[in-house]
Amino acid sequence: MVHEIIQTHCAQCSPDEMVPHTILKEGTEPLIKCKQCGAIHQYRIPKTKSVDIRIVVSTGDHSSTHRLSLDSDKIVSIDDEFMVEDELHDQANFVLVTSIESGDKRVDSAKADEILTLWARSTDKVIAKISITRGWQTDTIDLQVPGDREFSVGETISRGPDVFRIKKIKIRNGRFTENEGEPIKAKYIKRIFTDSVERIEWLNRPAPKKTKKGSPMYTNKSIIKPRGSNTWTLKTKERD
Ligand SMILES: [Zn+2]
Repeated sequence: MVHEIIQTHCAQCSPDEMVPHTILKEGTEPLIKCKQCGAIHQYRIPKTKSVDIRIVVSTGDHSSTHRLSLDSDKIVSIDDEFMVEDELHDQANFVLVTSIESGDKRVDSAKADEILTLWARSTDKVIAKISITRGWQTDTIDLQVPGDREFSVGETISRGPDVFRIKKIKIRNGRFTENEGEPIKAKYIKRIFTDSVERIEWLNRPAPKKTKKGSPMYTNKSIIKPRGSNTWTLKTKERD
């Protein structure tokens, strides 16, 4: 005796809405009994058809339109990852869904056959925006990296002659992390905040003799506030 229940239509009492059925006999075409009216019938496993969905993929600062073939009953949600074929450039890109258009509104998730357009961004190649604080000024550089490249606070990155250390990461959901060693994939990163190595050395230098005299670095706390355990330890030592 099988006690499994499946939800399906009953030709006898409920042709439109799904109602619970008990499985009498399993197999490729199970024999099922409607719990509502007791009718016994054969269960036909529904064949999913596939639908072609328009998907607009943004890569860096340009976007391109593609077709994505999905099972019609597949639920698509924001942040879902798909592989999109790019016939023009003969490549397949991983993309991350950023917005779903269903009917005339934007939704967080929808069934594939109810989706009008998907908006996504390419994750294969992503631009990591990196802010580098050197001295009193902050530069931003764009670093092109694979979407799966992981960055974490405390990591040292070099680019040409530049060497800088990650102090904070802004994630695409708006969250910031300053947790040292927490790896974040580039495709989820909005911006990486770093200090140039010269600046770190400068922050960690021995304390100047006359701090009271009001050197500019003590006037703006938000600029000079050291981040990370290393600098805090040193600061404590400086006070001793
Ligand atoms: Zn029934």
